[in-house]
Amino acid sequence: MPAARSVIVCAYPYALTPVRDADWASRLTGRIAAYALGADYHDVVKARLQQLCEHLLRDGARACRVHVDAGPLLEKELARRAGLGWYGHNTNLLTPKRGSALLLGCILTDLELVPDSPFGDEHCGTCRACIPACPTGALDSGPTIDARRCISYLTIELRGIVPHSLRPKMGNWLFGCDDCQTICPWNGDATDASAFLRPSLVEVLGLCEEEFVASYGATAVARARRRGFARNAAVALGNSRNPDAVDPLEEALRHDRDPLVRAHVVWALGRIGDRRAVRVLSRVDPDVEVPPVAAELRAAVAAAARGSCEISPHSAGSS
Ligand code: SF4
Ligand code: SF4
Repeated sequence: MPAARSVIVCAYPYALTPVRDADWASRLTGRIAAYALGADYHDVVKARLQQLCEHLLRDGARACRVHVDAGPLLEKELARRAGLGWYGHNTNLLTPKRGSALLLGCILTDLELVPDSPFGDEHCGTCRACIPACPTGALDSGPTIDARRCISYLTIELRGIVPHSLRPKMGNWLFGCDDCQTICPWNGDATDASAFLRPSLVEVLGLCEEEFVASYGATAVARARRRGFARNAAVALGNSRNPDAVDPLEEALRHDRDPLVRAHVVWALGRIGDRRAVRVLSRVDPDVEVPPVAAELRAAVAAAARGSCEISPHSAGSS
C-alpha cells in the first residue's frame, strides 16, 4: 500500500484455559488452543477494525486497509514499535495489562498520525519458565523459536506427514498449543475451559468432511482442514496409549479414505502397541497400500525389529 503513512495496531483479548488436562488420556479428549474458541478471530477482529476504518475515512483518511493475521505484515513487530508490549521469551508479544492472550490486527492508513513510542523495556526479568514448558523444545533463550518444532505449526500449517520424532511430544494438542502462554506469570489465572476446546478424540477422528465443516467451518479450526485435524487426532490417540483407542483407530484404518490420516493411524496403533493394536497392524499388507501408509507400516515393523513394538512382519488374514 504505497499511500500508507501510519499503522494503527490493535490488540483484542481472549481468555486462556487451564494449564493441563491431567486425565485426558483416560477420557480420550484433545485440546484446542484457546484463541480458537468461538467465531473465527480473523472475521471478528476484522469487522471491528473495519468499523474503525469507517471513522477514519469520515475523519479525513483517503485510504485504509485492514490486516488480521493474513498477508505479509509483521504485526507483532509493529505492535512492539507501536508501544503495546515486548517480546517475551515465548516469542509472543507480552503486554503489561493483558499478558499475551491477545489477537493482533493492523490498519494501514494514509493519515499522518503522531507515532507512540516503541516499547523499550523487557519485563521477563530472570523468568524463563516458558522455555522448559515447551513440549517440543522449540524455544531458546534468544528469545527465538524454531517454528518447525512448534505444535502450532505442526497441527495447523503443516499439511503433510508429522515428523516421527515430534509426534510423541504433541500430547493431545489438536489445534495450536497454549503451553508457553499458560505457564507465563503475566497471563494470570486461567478460566474454565469450554467443552469446545476439549473435544472427544474419537469423534474428531471420525468426522467426515461435511461434519467437520458443520462443527468447525465458522471457527479458526477450519484452517487445519478435516484431514489435518483428523491426522492430529490420530497422533493424540496414539499418545494416549489407551487400549480404548484401538477400536476407533482400527475403524479409521479400514474406512478413512485419506492416506495422510491412515498413515498416522498406523503410527498411533504402533504407539499403543498392545496385543490388539499389533493384531490390527499385522492384517495390513504394506505392498498393497499407498506410499504414506506403507511407509508407516514398514516403520512400525522396523520398530518391532528393534524391540520397541511387538509387530511382526505382515501376516495378512491372521487373527
Ligand atoms: S506454542 Fe507450544 S510448541 Fe509452540 S513454542 Fe509454545 S509451548 Fe512450544
Ligand atoms: S514465562 Fe517468563 S520468560 Fe516466558 S514470556 Fe512469560 S515472563 Fe517471559
